[in-house]
Amino acid sequence: MDTNINEKLLDERLAMLEKTRAWSPRTISKLEGLIRTGDDFSLFRINPIKFSTEKNIPENEAIDLFLFGSKYLLFDMNWNLICPGCGDIVSSFRTLKTLHSHFYCNVCHVSTEASLDDYIQIAFTISPEIREIAFHHPESLSVEDYYFKYRFYLDAKYPNGLRFADVVSQVMKCLSYISPKGKERFDIEVTAGFLSGGDLVNGADVVFEINGEIKPEKQNLSLKLMDGKFEPRSGVLSPGKVTLEIENTMDRKGSILLTNLPAGGGAGVLNIGNFLSGKRILTSQTFRDLYRTEVIQGTEGIGVKDIAVLFTDLKGSTALYDKIGDLKAFSLVRQHFDSLGKVVVNNSGAIVKTIGDAVMATFMNPFDAVNSAIEMLKEIKEFNRGLKGKEIILKIGVHKGPSIAVTLNDRLDYFGSTVNIASRVQELAGAEEIYITEDVYSYPRVQELLRSLNAAPENARLKGIHEEMKVYKITH
Ligand SMILES: [Zn+2]
Repeated sequence: MDTNINEKLLDERLAMLEKTRAWSPRTISKLEGLIRTGDDFSLFRINPIKFSTEKNIPENEAIDLFLFGSKYLLFDMNWNLICPGCGDIVSSFRTLKTLHSHFYCNVCHVSTEASLDDYIQIAFTISPEIREIAFHHPESLSVEDYYFKYRFYLDAKYPNGLRFADVVSQVMKCLSYISPKGKERFDIEVTAGFLSGGDLVNGADVVFEINGEIKPEKQNLSLKLMDGKFEPRSGVLSPGKVTLEIENTMDRKGSILLTNLPAGGGAGVLNIGNFLSGKRILTSQTFRDLYRTEVIQGTEGIGVKDIAVLFTDLKGSTALYDKIGDLKAFSLVRQHFDSLGKVVVNNSGAIVKTIGDAVMATFMNPFDAVNSAIEMLKEIKEFNRGLKGKEIILKIGVHKGPSIAVTLNDRLDYFGSTVNIASRVQELAGAEEIYITEDVYSYPRVQELLRSLNAAPENARLKGIHEEMKVYKITH
């Protein structure tokens, strides 16, 4: 294969990666194999989840592999905003700092607010210093590669299983670059519905309604691309033959993709498959440790539709501090943070912060959070062996729901009523008790976890929450 690899850099950086943590056997060589022999497209926007499936590596390890890989400059990490209607990667950001969640799609002609759970995706592209690939230079790609590989996310599928890219290919009327000051002509035939599309290179969109009787004579449609916009941008045509002429009045390259869709539009919202979401990466302890300085810009934050939040606190810590002194007690508390941290990471979660003796952690789902809570109690039981009279006594609460990811005091944090309720629910717990809300209890497979424990329902009044809430007290 004709690849240009910087051997020295690749060796150095792979060696750093190898040393950084314990990896499953052959993990690094599987990655090296991809870098050396993969085709250009396979090294562009690598999805760690897909990589983990294909290479038979645990998911969390694959995510770590690419997070550390980016830290050591083997890869560039990107935050992509994907349009749910067409799979267009509307924007791509190098850092979380520059990410915003509101966007307009020039293919679907709609504005969308993305949340961290669904249409914000993190992907990794080989660093150009290690190996140059065509996708580092999108301006040099063929128009087909530019649209179908660089812009449209190929794994995006409609609920019926069809890929957007294949659907578009079927209804596509024209696809072409238009050179600076150049002109392109297309003879096409259109049917009732819409002639819709745009120029994704310049972010221009165009949509014509097609209705009425079929016109026997050819219609002419002239479009001008000027200042990054089409003129006219909309209008009405009749079904039948159309001669389309597009003039690019600009000094830079333009392009055109037009599709003829039936009225009623697309076939629904796309499923973009199993990818690394913003939510997942924010619940990765490795991400939080490696990218401490990453912040979410702006005061409004970015929404998460559903996240599980766990709080712990210690019972009788004042008495403990009193009994063994601040220094010794603090040392114990620190050690217990480490123990809890290990449990959290083993359950695919991340510690957001510690507040005094308390811990706040987030998880992808309530199952992981409840499993973590149960393991925390076991872990602390072990921890307390030989600590006669100065035991650490844990109280835990779990809730789930929507939240806003924000940066508070230079830290990626979560904000909103889900977090408040989780904290209040924790306050209900006594020694070695876990309190969970109804939403958590009814989440798939959570009740299986609780099978060998007692789960007693109660109605609780939580501080600052108007309505009574159904909660479950979990005890041994
Ligand atoms: Zn779209």
